[in-house]
Amino acid sequence: GFMGVKEIHHSDAWRADTKIIKDTILPRLKEIDSFLSILDKAIESSGTRDVRALSQVARLQTTILQIVAGFGLAFIVLTILSLQRLVFRPIDSVARALKAEAFGKSGILLPAVRTRETQNLIDAFSEMRKQVHSRQADLEHQALHDALTGLPNRTLLHDRMEQAINVARRDHKNLTLLMIDLDRFKEINDTLGHHVGDNVLKDVGQRLLATLRQIDTVARLGGDEYAILLPDTDITTAVTITKKISKSLDSVFIIDELNLFIKASIGLAEYPSHGKDVATLIQHADVAMYVAKRGQLGFAVYNPRDDDYSIGRLALISDLREALTQKRLKLHYQPKVNLKSENIIGVEALLRWDHPKYGAIPPDQIVTLAEQTGLIDDVTKWVLREAAQQINSWQQQNCLIDISINLSMHNLRNPDLIAFLKSLLSEIPVRPESITLEITESAMMANPKRSLKTLAEISDMSIRLSIDDFGTGFSSLAYLKKLPVTELKIDKSFVMDIIHDENDFAIVKSTIDLAHNLGIEVIAEGVEKQDVYEALKNMNCDAAQGFYISYPLEAKQLVEFMNTEQPVRAKKTI
Ligand code: C2E
Ligand code: CA
Ligand code: CA
Repeated sequence: GFMGVKEIHHSDAWRADTKIIKDTILPRLKEIDSFLSILDKAIESSGTRDVRALSQVARLQTTILQIVAGFGLAFIVLTILSLQRLVFRPIDSVARALKAEAFGKSGILLPAVRTRETQNLIDAFSEMRKQVHSRQADLEHQALHDALTGLPNRTLLHDRMEQAINVARRDHKNLTLLMIDLDRFKEINDTLGHHVGDNVLKDVGQRLLATLRQIDTVARLGGDEYAILLPDTDITTAVTITKKISKSLDSVFIIDELNLFIKASIGLAEYPSHGKDVATLIQHADVAMYVAKRGQLGFAVYNPRDDDYSIGRLALISDLREALTQKRLKLHYQPKVNLKSENIIGVEALLRWDHPKYGAIPPDQIVTLAEQTGLIDDVTKWVLREAAQQINSWQQQNCLIDISINLSMHNLRNPDLIAFLKSLLSEIPVRPESITLEITESAMMANPKRSLKTLAEISDMSIRLSIDDFGTGFSSLAYLKKLPVTELKIDKSFVMDIIHDENDFAIVKSTIDLAHNLGIEVIAEGVEKQDVYEALKNMNCDAAQGFYISYPLEAKQLVEFMNTEQPVRAKKTI
């Protein structure tokens, strides 16, 4: 039809195509149109079907996705929750417990639910806490206790005193503080070594503890100083306890097979009569202790009168220097009696210092003061020169007498000592045999090698040597044999009581016998009574010295004494 139409169009036939269009083309077009609409419909219906299927698929997929996402979310939430419960919260509470621990608070609970890891963490933490606690307890103990003896230290003592004072104030009660200082402990340390010294300190602590009640506090304040707090105890009871303590320290200490005798000086101060606060009580017990050191009893109760002395101690140091240069020191002379002839054979020179403010200062304290301030060599040189001049002057008055002079441990260490003695002997005409140097047993033992050398040099000059305070030191007989000594002086602590104390009697007796076996003469000091004097005579003791014979006298008095009291036998008939 179209081809026909095309041809017609190229021809000039007008409207000849109408028929073709009408009959052929239009029906065809209609046919095509209906086909197309069928096709369209078919396509449309199949499209609708596809879309439906597709959207179904899409919906399914969406649902699946939602479910998956839901699960995912739930998983995440669960994970977070369980992490929270199993990890974060335990860690947090461990951390909080740690922090609390750091600030010293306890009682923070550790989590109950634990994973293996948190369990490990908690275990590690608990272990650390245990360690920290025990270390802390150790540190606290260390801070409040003395390492050597395990006794409370000064800080803890102060604390307990503070509490005890509060209780005493509230209940209107007393308490007493004791200050204890061991006599001659330094010598034990110097002569026998720190090991022995340490053991002595420990043993003393044990003995003190054993003598006291549970509620009392025994503290070591350092060195050989102890303090005892007796709560709810007045001074009278405290004195009784003090005597018990002295007694418990009296029996021999056996350390490294050595027999050591320890004496202590004890000062007492009572609340409230001697002080109302910690510092005052300590200070006053301290003053009393110094007083005890000077006396014979071994203890002293605080007395306000004694304050001057301790306060003046510092001033004393400079005063001593001055006394030495201004010749305010003096020597007194105590007679020594030969127990066979009962004649006075010599004197011991004893240092005296009459202080313008404090009165007579005990010589052992002068010596300690001089040792502490480096004045001891000057003091000794003064004593030696003064003594030499004195016998020289007595010799000129026809009074032939020997003299004993005390040396301190420090003097033996001075290398100038020998040269000084030589120049003194050449300067002052005295027979060296008339001079005896008394050296304490412990001073000799302080450095046996050096002592031996010095002693040999002294002995080579014909000066005689005596072992002073014998029995209080620790020398062995084997060692004594090596010493060039001619005399042994038994300490007064053994002599004074020989009549009543069998032990002392035995010690004195055996010392005399042993010394005689070694060819050494024996003198007993501290003879205060006639019965002791007689007993010593019966024991074959060579000489005696003590208040029974005479107190130490001034040089002038001594000459009078020699003229009137010779022989001493005469005394007994008075
Ligand atoms: P020491 O060497 O044992 O001297 C004997 C002490 O006992 C003296 O004390 C004397 O007065 C005292 N005494 C004498 N007879 C008796 C008695 O019957 N009973 C009692 N209870 N005591 C008696 P003093 O004079 O107080 O001397 C004490 C210590 O001071 C001396 O003890 C001595 O170690 C030391 N000393 C004294 N003068 C000097 C000195 O010039 N140089 C040195 N380094 N020390 C000295
Ligand atoms: Ca002496
Ligand atoms: Ca003595």
